[in-house]
Amino acid sequence: MKAIAVTPGKPNSVHLEDIPRPKLDDVPKGRGVLVRVLKVGVDATDREINDALYGNAPPGFNYLVLGHESFGIVEEVGPNVRRVKPGDYVTATVRRPGGSIYDLIGTNDMTSEEVYYERGINLRHGYLTESFVDDEEFIVRVPQGLKHLHVLMEPMSCAAKAVYQAFEAQRRMRVWRPQRAFVMGVGQIGLLTALILRLRGIEVYSFARSKPGTLNSQIVEGIEAKYVSTSQTPIEEIVKQVGKADLIVDATGSSHVAFDSMKALGHNGVLVWTSITGANRQHEVASDKINIDFVLGNKLLLGSVNANREHFEMGIRDLALGEMMFPGVVQRILTNPVNGLDNYQEMMRLLVEEKSALKVFVNVADA
Ligand code: BGC
Ligand code: ZN
Repeated sequence: MKAIAVTPGKPNSVHLEDIPRPKLDDVPKGRGVLVRVLKVGVDATDREINDALYGNAPPGFNYLVLGHESFGIVEEVGPNVRRVKPGDYVTATVRRPGGSIYDLIGTNDMTSEEVYYERGINLRHGYLTESFVDDEEFIVRVPQGLKHLHVLMEPMSCAAKAVYQAFEAQRRMRVWRPQRAFVMGVGQIGLLTALILRLRGIEVYSFARSKPGTLNSQIVEGIEAKYVSTSQTPIEEIVKQVGKADLIVDATGSSHVAFDSMKALGHNGVLVWTSITGANRQHEVASDKINIDFVLGNKLLLGSVNANREHFEMGIRDLALGEMMFPGVVQRILTNPVNGLDNYQEMMRLLVEEKSALKVFVNVADA
């Protein structure tokens, strides 16, 4: 069957690969779920893998099948599968267990090992192909009523984890009722994070460089968050007007912004970093000032990556609530479909060149 793959280590190597069709009993103990792929989303991670900034082939292969944002339909299940049945819409988690204690209890996203296994990213093949098989542990059901949001399940899971981790960490305060949040970036993770926070009644400011009027800014307003264009109003200005934030989530992809956000965090607050910055940029910071502020204000900096099935389930619940609260808004993220695996060049071109493409995804097959 067809698969979109790269040759890790070789820049711009995206190509079509012919790979064997998976079988249900590739997964032991009757726990296999065979999924026919319907749609797969791509993001900056796929672009950076194609730029050879990171990403490794599974052992024994010289290619890596791309794609970690999956959406498909169950075709067949092993005799011991209980969670899903043929005909169900599903997505799949991305990280696979290593050997640490966290991996053994289903929290692969928190592995304490340096090496991590991620389908479509590192050491495991991804979903940009016709079908895949996996243990039911890693398959998450998508409600019928959310099938129009298909490839957003995985990005949503990362946003859900980031917010959940912030609340978990803030239990250190015993009482923490965040009133104001700043979300840096209005890409898919930034928008979905803003949604989750709005659904908790928090006042959200979404920061981006573009002037108001873009689709991204309309989505921000559609979920009743406030859009701030930093080219018109710098963050310091907002801080002067409304005060610092109790919670900041950076989802810009820029380490520069991630560090600068520290200045806008209020006392006892938490700043969550979610950007994957694969390059080697350097940026000067006012380290004395930031240091003393963090110490005197008991502030917390938290990194968050990936998501396990619980976060997928949380994210799906919030997408469902989001559809009730702000009907039709979230699907506007899904801007740029590409038809068929054969169009992999167009997929990569949109990712690299089309700055207005908020979400590129491949229509692999029809349900
Ligand atoms: C993916 C995550 C992954 C991270 C680091 C992101 O693009 O959505 O699942 O953990 O990259 O590889
Ligand atoms: Zn991703």
